[in-house]
Amino acid sequence: MDFLPALPQGHYRQVGVVLRAAISGERGKNLLLLLKEAGLVWATAAGAASGRSRLSGVTEPLVWGYFTLYRSPRRIYVREVAVREDFWPLRQNREKLRAALEICADAARFSLPGHPPEELLPILYWTLKALEAGTEPAAVRFRFLYRWGRALGTVPGLDRCSACGKPSQQGLLTLRGLLCPACAGPVPAKECLSLGEKELNRLKKAVMLSGKDFRNEPFSRDEIPLFGKVSALLTRLIESSV
Ligand SMILES: [Zn+2]
Repeated sequence: MDFLPALPQGHYRQVGVVLRAAISGERGKNLLLLLKEAGLVWATAAGAASGRSRLSGVTEPLVWGYFTLYRSPRRIYVREVAVREDFWPLRQNREKLRAALEICADAARFSLPGHPPEELLPILYWTLKALEAGTEPAAVRFRFLYRWGRALGTVPGLDRCSACGKPSQQGLLTLRGLLCPACAGPVPAKECLSLGEKELNRLKKAVMLSGKDFRNEPFSRDEIPLFGKVSALLTRLIESSV
């Protein structure tokens, strides 16, 4: 993956987040950044893998801030990071951290290089806030994929049938969206999920609550399989369209 946006050579300062960091060479790091204006870019942080470097702690995944970058003819260098949020409490919990990194990987997979993610960055930020607050990770990932997919224009709504457009209280979630009982023909079992009224209501609630209410909503561990299955389907749906 060679994400070099069409930026002219020179210095830039952009708000964004580190999605991934990998050691490169002796003491450097390669960072996958999601930036508000430039989108997804790979950047090199020279010396950042050395504990003595001022870039060492600020070039870890989940760090948000203002990135001062230099674009040379061949690559982009990180010069400085003014941290706005490092999600420190989230990093202290293994389960939350794993969920956060998985969501960052989704964000990297489902962003188009060079496509400015102005709508996407706030979705990711508030997703991490919900994880930090302790909302059930399976529900958080589902809400993230749904909102991210809606922003990309690839995920249909959960309140209407994708075929006939009528409101639907239950149905079959498929790679074509939600199908009401009247429209749902034979669909291979691995490409759909049958949702009763109660399940569909829980999904709708998880995506429609305000950020604050979502962070306070007690999703039960019994609901994890439902959110997991729907997330798997949404992943395939978004993947097939980006
Ligand atoms: Zn229908």
